[in-house]
Amino acid sequence: TPRQAAVATAMSYAAKGSQISFVDVPAQDYYSANVFGKNVMKDRLPKSVYKSLMSTIDSGEKLDPEIADIVASAMKDWAMEKGATHYAHIFYPLTGATAEKHDSFLSPTTDGSTLSEFSGKQLIQGEPDGSSFPTGGIRVTSQARGYTIWDVTSPAYILENPNGATLCIPTAFVSWTGEALDKKTPVLRSMQALNKQAQRILKLFGHEDGAFVASTAGPEQEYFLVDRSFYYARPDLIAAGRTLFGSKPPKGQEFDDHYFGAIPERVLAFMMEAERELFKLGIPVKTRHNEVAPGQFEVAPVFESANVAADHQQLMMLILRKTAEKYGMSCLMHEKPFAGVNGSGKHVNWSLGSSSQGNMLSPGDTPHENAQFLVFCAAVIRAVYRHQGLLRAVVATAGNDHRLGANEAPPAIISIFLGDQLTDVFEQIKSGGANSSIPSGTLTVGVDVLPPLPKDAGDRNRTSPFAFTGNRFEFRAVGSNQSIAGPLVAMNTIIAESVDYCATTLEAAMGGDPAKLNSAVQSLLTEIINECSSVVFDGDGYSEEWHEEAEKRGLLNLKTTADALPQLLKPETVELFETYGVLSPRELHSRFETYVEQYCLSIDVEAALAVQIAKTQIFPAAIRYQSELAATCANLKAIGYEFDTDTLDAVTTLVKSLQDSIAKLEFAIADGEESEPMDCARHHCDAILPAMLEVRKYVDQLEGYVADDLWPLPTYAEMLFIK
Ligand code: ADP
Ligand code: MG
Repeated sequence: TPRQAAVATAMSYAAKGSQISFVDVPAQDYYSANVFGKNVMKDRLPKSVYKSLMSTIDSGEKLDPEIADIVASAMKDWAMEKGATHYAHIFYPLTGATAEKHDSFLSPTTDGSTLSEFSGKQLIQGEPDGSSFPTGGIRVTSQARGYTIWDVTSPAYILENPNGATLCIPTAFVSWTGEALDKKTPVLRSMQALNKQAQRILKLFGHEDGAFVASTAGPEQEYFLVDRSFYYARPDLIAAGRTLFGSKPPKGQEFDDHYFGAIPERVLAFMMEAERELFKLGIPVKTRHNEVAPGQFEVAPVFESANVAADHQQLMMLILRKTAEKYGMSCLMHEKPFAGVNGSGKHVNWSLGSSSQGNMLSPGDTPHENAQFLVFCAAVIRAVYRHQGLLRAVVATAGNDHRLGANEAPPAIISIFLGDQLTDVFEQIKSGGANSSIPSGTLTVGVDVLPPLPKDAGDRNRTSPFAFTGNRFEFRAVGSNQSIAGPLVAMNTIIAESVDYCATTLEAAMGGDPAKLNSAVQSLLTEIINECSSVVFDGDGYSEEWHEEAEKRGLLNLKTTADALPQLLKPETVELFETYGVLSPRELHSRFETYVEQYCLSIDVEAALAVQIAKTQIFPAAIRYQSELAATCANLKAIGYEFDTDTLDAVTTLVKSLQDSIAKLEFAIADGEESEPMDCARHHCDAILPAMLEVRKYVDQLEGYVADDLWPLPTYAEMLFIK
């Protein structure tokens, strides 16, 4: 069987990746080696051009088109010295993927030779034929003009391949009328909106330097690694990214022996090569470890400005996938590749900060600093309270539905965890008796030789979807396969709205008198915490009681993508995005339609696969075994033995049930030709998915009966444990 061949190949794996020596080339020499970063620009650009570019990158000034030719030419020279033959505008369509179109630097001349060329115009703007990217109706195919526009704030870089290199230029992708067709444009707009509102608060606290307040993001990426040969023997992994069948292995993650355990050698070698490549691209990878499930790992970079972090995250997924192949493995980023063991998420750590203020979600040393810190915290709490539905909708995908609300990921109910210290402060504020300073307790560890640790304001609560972790918030509901752009846009915008509200309230209460700041802050915090405290929850998010309690509190519990996506069209959401200039109603609507379509398409693929595998691989294996049993039974009877037919009966019943369930699934698929997008999503959620589960039930039961040498699919135990 293909399975036996896969096991044999996996067992005879011999390392093919490159030999990496950080002795010959120290790791720091790799850092940003392939990035057209500030240091390269400083070296290669005239001073005035460099200064002008920096004011765009650091302070959000408009780009001066006059300098584009000079920058382009410097970029081209640098890239060609590094072996690049082509340049590519990189953009981020609504599919969540990364798109690229390559153009050669060389142009033919009339005398029959060639000239290397890269003009400012080519740097600034491209026109890929984007007609086959989803647009949710914004751009009809006949006027399929889409433009890519250079994003100066995200550095260009060189991506190497075994035969050369490409200069990659991060861009925004918009329609000819300037409407966003991508994930990046709204990130940039939302960062601007947040900066504008944050400046107002800073001004009230006496900080008027105007340094750009950027949202920052540090995304932790979880993933699985399986041997390539298993991947190729599983059509479901190839086409859907997750296993549609497979029974729980005798040993799973029960012993908790994988989490933070020693990293297997082959995996470590892969990690080191991936990290070296990421380092070259200026992606500051920092942390690596085993995750909870067998075969599951995590990597996390140091946080960066949200826009750059989002681009880097896309690159990171690419590099992880590519490098895994070199080591004979497949990197699975699906949220739930294996039922019954933990799924993968992407914890997006979020904060806001500026060059002069530093991190604004970090508690300060003085009551004045802490008052400012508390205003920003309160703004976040208010934002999460008012826009729970939106936060749920931006993590709604077919893949993430298998994870959210299951027993390991955060629940589908969006609540916020503050930790003891912040909860304490807000409790005091609520009861009216608060002073705006944070008690700075210390935590005694109970071992005399250890010094007292500063009490970490963000003690851990892994069950919360949105947690304060000491100096940032961590949005844990994001799916491992998702672009982080959508969640960042949502966070930036809802928090911009709340910061706007806080600024307006404080300004009104103070009437221009700085002496009134403290009392104004006091009453603002009291008001917010009284209004929004129902969204604050510090208990166990996985528990039954929380589900009941959340319902009593009136919190939303949107279990599936089909339940969650309509939140995007709520009047308050439409108004939010329009007010802050992040997404027009038309752009928002196009996103809704695209995401509904993606949801249905993903499930269509899975359903078709389930039918195909069940019919052409499982059913034949099952009847072969059934006929073996029947033959044995007949033979024994012929020579006068009484044969116990229990197994034959069980297999026969299961085969019958399998056939029936396949027929039911085929019917559900055929019945799904609805016209309205939401009807289609509901049908996929309510009819097709349950029918798939039904097929799975019988397949997984058959796995427990059919002779091992007949079973065609690599098993969970094989995929998760053979390294
Ligand atoms: P843990 O697993 O304990 O949550 P990790 O070290 O795996 O911690 O990841 C924490 C992430 O939070 C890192 O990417 C880190 O850079 C990021 N982070 C730290 N400070 C900030 C901040 N101010 N803004 C955004 N992200 C931050
Ligand atoms: Mg972590």
